[in-house]
Amino acid sequence: MTVLDVRLLFDGYFTLDKSFLIFGKYQGVKYKAALKPLLVRTEKETIIVDTGIATLPPKYNKFHEVIRGSNEELRHSMNNAGVRLEDVTLVVNTHLHFDHCGNNRFFPRAKFMVQTDEVRYAYFPDRFMQVSYLRDFFDHEGDYLPLKGRYQIEDGVDLLPTPGHTIGHQSVVVRWKGRNIVYAGDAAPLAENVEKRNIPGMIFNSAKGLESIDLLRRIENPVYLYSHDNAQLSLTF
Ligand SMILES: [Zn+2]
Ligand SMILES: [Zn+2]
Repeated sequence: MTVLDVRLLFDGYFTLDKSFLIFGKYQGVKYKAALKPLLVRTEKETIIVDTGIATLPPKYNKFHEVIRGSNEELRHSMNNAGVRLEDVTLVVNTHLHFDHCGNNRFFPRAKFMVQTDEVRYAYFPDRFMQVSYLRDFFDHEGDYLPLKGRYQIEDGVDLLPTPGHTIGHQSVVVRWKGRNIVYAGDAAPLAENVEKRNIPGMIFNSAKGLESIDLLRRIENPVYLYSHDNAQLSLTF
């Protein structure tokens, strides 16, 4: 067994229009979206999947409010898990939207695993997606390993391309206690995306988005972790 521990971390909440999460529904409904990186410890690696939002530039404040108690930033939940920033050897970003890579620059020893299509697009996004990529959040010292398609980090820790929400989105599947823990990322930010086959409202390619949801639904013995579901804050099954 190479996977030693899997747990959800926490970086607070940010608000957004719920229609960003579910296509064609909830316009004008404000949603308090949770930010919840995943910690995976194996015999060889200490892995963080997605790094939350950290601090947004002031000009974003009128669109998104970051809500965080004094002990609710990512570092605090890492501390509780006994992991320091410098212990982390790999950071996996499902994609490079600002709410998934906000703390990337604070991991001094990590290598970064992001699909190459996503890294390229993040530097030169289409106009409708520009606001979602903050270059300061991902363009820092540190190696982005070239990644194209499926990749096995170790036995039981797999990266699975799930494009649609963005061009190079990926999900992470961890075999743990006889289940497949599926860190869906924004391929499925809420349970409704998987359960009702509803694509996210913020979408680069809607057909691929639905294919990716169907791919996630075909995984056997799954425990889904939805990127922004504020009712699911720990890994329980
Ligand atoms: Zn996103
Ligand atoms: Zn997101």
